Amino acid sequence: MRQKIVAGNWKMNKNAEETQTLLQDLVSKLPQTEAQIIVAPTFVNLASAVNQLKNTSVIVAAQNMHQAENGAYTGEISANMLESIGVNTVILGHSERRSYFGETDSILAYKVDTALKHNMKIIFCFGEELKDRQDKQHFNVVENQLRDGLFHIANEAWNNIILAYEPVWAIGTGETATPEQAQEMHEFIRETVRHTFGSSIAENVSILYGGSVKPDNAKEIFGKPDVDGGLIGGAALKADDFVAIINGII
Ligand code: PEP
Repeated sequence: MRQKIVAGNWKMNKNAEETQTLLQDLVSKLPQTEAQIIVAPTFVNLASAVNQLKNTSVIVAAQNMHQAENGAYTGEISANMLESIGVNTVILGHSERRSYFGETDSILAYKVDTALKHNMKIIFCFGEELKDRQDKQHFNVVENQLRDGLFHIANEAWNNIILAYEPVWAIGTGETATPEQAQEMHEFIRETVRHTFGSSIAENVSILYGGSVKPDNAKEIFGKPDVDGGLIGGAALKADDFVAIINGII
């Protein structure tokens, strides 16, 4: 059985006090679930989040990290810094990092290597833009993002990989892929992994869907056979919505 996962990407939202309040609210409302629950507050609140969640099953992830081990990279955060505060999971390749901060596939490949060297779990994000889909290039774009940013890894490294398919046109737009569109792409992704790394890895890797998942559409999307959970942006900022989404998976 593949691990079901619901992850909340808080982006640049919630100050220290708000983070504490949201986590408290979330923990008090969390249902019994087989799903792994992950939250990704902003860097400055990671250490306090780890501390606050230490007696729970909720995992704290970073939203990004730099590829270098250390050095003159003003404003950046290294894998070692994350590890040192108990953060062992990182989101890499989010479309906002790709488009606003110039993260290319080759930078991402480097970040993947660094994260793996530190034995971190990676939520690897990728997905096509609207134009790619209109041009019927979405499968090619997704395959290239996977091949260029991730597929250089060794078979053993797949234990540390969670895939997150996030069509850019559905992120923060209120526009969701239909459950059928999500399933079609997830099946393609799993087949692409199978083709290069074999059936066992393909069957075991969790593939999350991200893009305007809300309480009222989560259950239907999560019900598709190749959708193993979600990466949630806006709706992760309210405990009730996030919990309702988690309830869509059990
Ligand atoms: C995201 O940013 O990863 C995301 C899926 O955002 P939203 O749920 O707000 O579309």
